[in-house]
Amino acid sequence: MSLNLKREDWFHITRDVDWDFSYIERGAAFPDSICGGAGVADAAWTDWDEPYKVSYTEYVATQREKEAGAYAVKNALQRSKIFDSLEPGWKSAAKLHFGATVGIEYQGVSGEGRMARFGLSPAWRNVGIFGALDEIRHNQIGLYFAHEFVQRDPQYDWAQKTYQTENWAAAAGRRLIDGIIHIPVVDIAIALPFLFETGFTNLQFVGLSADALAEGDVSFANMISSIQTDEARHAQQGGPTLEILMEADPKRAQWIVDKQFWLTARGFALVTGMATDYYTPLENRRYSYKEFMQEWIMDQFLRNLEDYGLQKPWYWEEFVDGLEIWHHAMNIGAWFYRPTVWWNPAPGVSKAERDWLCEKYPNWQRYWGDIWDQVAENLEQYRLGSTYPETLPWLCDMCLLPVGSAGAPNSSYPVRSYPLTYQGTTRQFCSKVCRQIWWADRDMVNHNTLVDRMLAGSIDNAFRGADEEYRPDLLELLPYLGLTESAIGDDAYDYQWVDDYHGAQA
Ligand code: MN
Ligand code: MN
Repeated sequence: MSLNLKREDWFHITRDVDWDFSYIERGAAFPDSICGGAGVADAAWTDWDEPYKVSYTEYVATQREKEAGAYAVKNALQRSKIFDSLEPGWKSAAKLHFGATVGIEYQGVSGEGRMARFGLSPAWRNVGIFGALDEIRHNQIGLYFAHEFVQRDPQYDWAQKTYQTENWAAAAGRRLIDGIIHIPVVDIAIALPFLFETGFTNLQFVGLSADALAEGDVSFANMISSIQTDEARHAQQGGPTLEILMEADPKRAQWIVDKQFWLTARGFALVTGMATDYYTPLENRRYSYKEFMQEWIMDQFLRNLEDYGLQKPWYWEEFVDGLEIWHHAMNIGAWFYRPTVWWNPAPGVSKAERDWLCEKYPNWQRYWGDIWDQVAENLEQYRLGSTYPETLPWLCDMCLLPVGSAGAPNSSYPVRSYPLTYQGTTRQFCSKVCRQIWWADRDMVNHNTLVDRMLAGSIDNAFRGADEEYRPDLLELLPYLGLTESAIGDDAYDYQWVDDYHGAQA
């Protein structure tokens, strides 16, 4: 073959050539149980197309440039004093990000790998290969960038550690990503590239990158925007897959979107919601989480759904109301449960921050003001003990996030659980929607939450002899959650924000 072939003469052959099987049935190579192609004619997949159309040579050249760029900036800044000048709240946002996302990037390799092998058209499988290579890079760059800080602050070690622990927040993240990638590949393409990557990672990677720049954390900003350029490309696996499924089985397509959108939104409220509205120092907050969500999700993404002929999810109103509730409740929860997490929660409720919150969230004072006043008063009176939990958060059986984190006092979504008894076991849910999702698929039926395990005595037995009295308390549980003394979370500002409250109590 001549080495001088023009790109247009060979590219379509390398990108999109399929073949017939002569010694097995096609279904043996592409089983419905893994591919999720049931109900869609094989021929329909020949229309699968995406806009990037990258060759391997081009891919390698571009990726090499991106890598060189991000690492050059990091090296140039390595001996600078930037790290010391970063605000504690911002470091918490970065540690939450490293711990929550770097391991998920590695899970992404598995999801992309499944599409690379079982995608139902050759063009799709090719993008899947690039996607898997992308996710390896994201995992590696995240580990490498966090590693620099481990010697100064062991909480950065959670970039590597999180998903190898039984930490409650890790379990919620693991459930989210497992539920998105260990499913048939047609479902993966909708849940991962279309919803998770197109809909939501923009919030975390584009939004947080801008905050990082404002904060002066140039290395971090470079790292995550470098990652996001890959996501934008391999996220293109979602649209064409959704289009074909909408033709053949719109009901199934709608269910995948409804289910995965809700669960993904729950997870991002914790990671992006808290970082945007509470951890990022006030002077560098340009948008609230709700404003981001209004622009990226409620406006752009909803239009995107409509373009594919999909309906708004049935719970849309509750989701929109949740922008006033979820991440605010999670912020109080994360602060209260601070010894159980790998970052130092920033309360984000100084007087100036409260003014900002009330401006962005008209119900903030009514829903959250009294609780934080009480916390501040306890701290002022040196009742530190009453600002700590005695045991684990009560966890939703579906999203695995704390029950109560989908509600607020004095709201139409009050702090309560939504129970369901099935086969003699009563399960607790954070919301009606999580309960309904659990019931519809029952794919979480064999999962025991941390609280289930504690009540069954299986956590306790890991630390003491079976003959000893069973007495779970938080200190005993911390090792099970993966927390060592040097990494246990505490108030990011060492309680100094309470000074702001002096004399504020009547
Ligand atoms: Mn990624
Ligand atoms: Mn990705």
